Amino acid sequence: MKKLFGFALLAIMLTLVAGEKNDNVAGAGKAKVDSPKVVVEKFFVAMGNLDKAGAKSQCLESSKIMAQMYNSIDNMKNAPKEVQQKITANFKNAKVFDEKIDGDKAIVEFKMGNQKVPFILVKIEGKWKISGPSEEVLAAAREKALAISCLTHLKILGQAIRMYEDENKDTIPMANSDWKKLINEYAQDEKAFICPKNQAPYRYLGNGQADSSLQDPSREFVFVCECEHGGKLNVCFADGHVASHPVQAVKDAIKNAKPGKLPLLK
Ligand SMILES: [Zn+2]
Repeated sequence: MKKLFGFALLAIMLTLVAGEKNDNVAGAGKAKVDSPKVVVEKFFVAMGNLDKAGAKSQCLESSKIMAQMYNSIDNMKNAPKEVQQKITANFKNAKVFDEKIDGDKAIVEFKMGNQKVPFILVKIEGKWKISGPSEEVLAAAREKALAISCLTHLKILGQAIRMYEDENKDTIPMANSDWKKLINEYAQDEKAFICPKNQAPYRYLGNGQADSSLQDPSREFVFVCECEHGGKLNVCFADGHVASHPVQAVKDAIKNAKPGKLPLLK
């Protein structure tokens, strides 16, 4: 009798477990569809984590524009660390704040930096997918891509200058020398001397300074891109790092540089 009871209990337990499984299956079948807002949020999280597959999964497969966006993750992975961190932070800090649904179409507005931008979404097979940003966003993205590419060029030059210094008694080439040739021996990249936005060469400010004569290599710059990128100018510092600074600040630094010294950014 005791044995039979045990068997019955086991049978009940098995039924319960099976029932639980069924519930799970039923639950999965009724999985909540992500709202357009959630889809955009997930896209930003994936972009911020440089997760290309994750970003792609939130986008309309046929959208070339969105493909460009998530494929840019490959470039971001090659960008200088300081640039990469800024971009991923932009995605991580993007705030989705408005959602308008009209049948199978939706517009989700989000804020990136100080800019409010809309994404258009469509419902395909019951799921919301990002079809693309508005033209306004595209223009900003193109601009951003050029700015990143410009900083990447400057970084190559910054590293080349450091290598030159190491082999030349800690000095950098004179601006009135054949500096491009001297630096390119280390950069090995003719394109790195030109801004991708306006195709103009970067301005070199070196004057044969020795590393030991610098006040602060992290604030004194050797190269400047004179083409504006979103109201800023890209510069390469004597320590090899690159950054964007407000146009006026860079111009003032160049104007106020003492003879034989590099311009210094406060
Ligand atoms: Zn540039």
